[in-house]
Amino acid sequence: MTLRAKLILAQAPLALVLVLFGVASVTTISLLGQGPELILKDNYRSVLAAERMLQSLERLEAVALAHSTGRPAEGDPAEWRSRFEKELLAQEHNITEPGEDAATGRLRQRWSEYQHAFERIRSAPSREQLTYFFEALEPAYRRAQAAADEILALNQDAMASKAERSRRAAEQNRTLVVVATIGALTLGLILSLAMTARLLRPLGVLSQTVRRIGEGDLQARARVEGKDEIAALAGEFNTMADRLAEYRSSSLGELLQAQQASQAAIDSLPDPVLVLDVQGGILNLNRAAETMLRLGAGGVPPAVEALEPALRAVVERVRIHVLSGKGAYLPHGFEEAVRIESSEGDRHLLPRAPPLYSEQGGIIGVTIVLQDVTRLMRFDELKNDLVATVAHEFRTPLTSLRMAIHLCADELVGPLTDKQADLMAAARADCERLQGIVDDLLDLSRIQSGRMELKLEQIEVRTLLESGAAALRSAADDGRVELFVSPPAESVEVQGDRERIQLVLTNLLGNAVRHTRPGGRVEVGAFVAGSAVRFEVRDTGEGIAREHLDRIFEKSYRVPGARSGGVGLGLFISREIIQAHGGTMGVKSEPGRGSTFWFTIPAAERRPAAA
Ligand code: ADP
Repeated sequence: MTLRAKLILAQAPLALVLVLFGVASVTTISLLGQGPELILKDNYRSVLAAERMLQSLERLEAVALAHSTGRPAEGDPAEWRSRFEKELLAQEHNITEPGEDAATGRLRQRWSEYQHAFERIRSAPSREQLTYFFEALEPAYRRAQAAADEILALNQDAMASKAERSRRAAEQNRTLVVVATIGALTLGLILSLAMTARLLRPLGVLSQTVRRIGEGDLQARARVEGKDEIAALAGEFNTMADRLAEYRSSSLGELLQAQQASQAAIDSLPDPVLVLDVQGGILNLNRAAETMLRLGAGGVPPAVEALEPALRAVVERVRIHVLSGKGAYLPHGFEEAVRIESSEGDRHLLPRAPPLYSEQGGIIGVTIVLQDVTRLMRFDELKNDLVATVAHEFRTPLTSLRMAIHLCADELVGPLTDKQADLMAAARADCERLQGIVDDLLDLSRIQSGRMELKLEQIEVRTLLESGAAALRSAADDGRVELFVSPPAESVEVQGDRERIQLVLTNLLGNAVRHTRPGGRVEVGAFVAGSAVRFEVRDTGEGIAREHLDRIFEKSYRVPGARSGGVGLGLFISREIIQAHGGTMGVKSEPGRGSTFWFTIPAAERRPAAA
């Protein structure tokens, strides 16, 4: 049954009550209307007839009296007789009450007796007339009158009792109608309410199910019987809930799978990995982190506080770096590795940390990979040792080689042909280069073993600049590069290791000359900057691309494709030397517009003028 039909049906009891009420009212009204009508039809006519007959009798009696006494009579007796006759006929046709029939018969008989008497009095001799009137006519009149009165009384009584009856019937009807109306209304209301409640029950079930689904219980279903619109709606709703549950289970399954896959991926890494949230709490970690860093053992939720202090400091530093929006944290060298004690002995861990981004692009965490560089560092140490040994072993033979070539090239041991002189010159240049490399390697090993000792003295800046320029003069001439010295305006001294600062200057000048095309210009200068002297080596050479600028000071880093003078150690060693002096070193450069390398050395305290 459709919803509309059910709604209409729910109103039906009330409508039925209304109809019944209407029918009852109409019936009652028409019943009540019948009472007076009956009285009018049955009795009033008889009363009227009786009265008229009495009147006619009276008139006839008056005529008879006048006639008997010899006075002139008023009116025509024939007219009154016919009037009486007409009314008696009407009465004979309107017999309605018990006893009325007999009374009417009596009246008919007495009327005819009265007529006889009346006729006889008219035909009687006039002296007998009066006697006759009193002896015969008068008693006949009385009897006819009594019969008419009887009919009159009979009908008047009937009228009174009928009026009483209809009044009682009206009263009864009123009570009946009131009781019936109240009863039917109550019944109709109860039925209507019950049906409406029954009709609305499925809606309640449906809304309860909707609420449960909204609260996350995807197993809830609306059980609604029937074939109406609400049942159809419940059916559609259940289908939707099925799909939702299916989707939830499938997407949850996929999510779990993806999560397991990514956990398996980070677990397979041999290096410890920590995923931290913005507050520094550990969101996730891999198995290597659990074992190597002894985190999360014994069911305790892993926390950064459980890390060794040194490692904790590094993790904090890296996290702050990433959260400050400087991008991923990348280590610069093995120096940054932290040493921790683990079950497999000491381990060196090098941190690197990419940020975790939310969908909106904000940083929501940090992934810290602690690369285990223990083996790499051991190799590095081995390599350094080897390099140091080799460089050291090269020194003595190289010195005698240089000496021999020097003696030969200067023809101190005999004259040379032009060809031999050329060969000797080339050999001498290569020997110098080799010496430079060996010196670099030795410096490097000294720096790495922390054995760089500075022989500090007060050095006049101008002499430093000039001797540096002098060392590169011939190379500059060969490369047709102009070399300028711009010394500070006044005499100024620095506190430093002459030989080492000299080495830095020749390194920078050598690089500048090498990377400048013929016709270019190199300038070395210095000026006082606060408590330090700032040295600058400017060239108009090829410049350095931005991406290499940060890295050229790293050990063994060379710009790919650029002309090289050594093994990429020059700038690294130079910066170490400057830092050992308490200064800083840097570069400004743009491709095609030349480079400016600068460094600072603390200025020497001024000697008293007398000294
Ligand atoms: P190398 O001894 O191999 O030249 P350096 O450490 O001195 O190594 O220099 C590192 C790199 O820096 C070089 O490969 C070179 O390309 C680049 N470089 C150094 N100085 C200059 C300069 N003045 N102009 C252009 N490139 C330079």
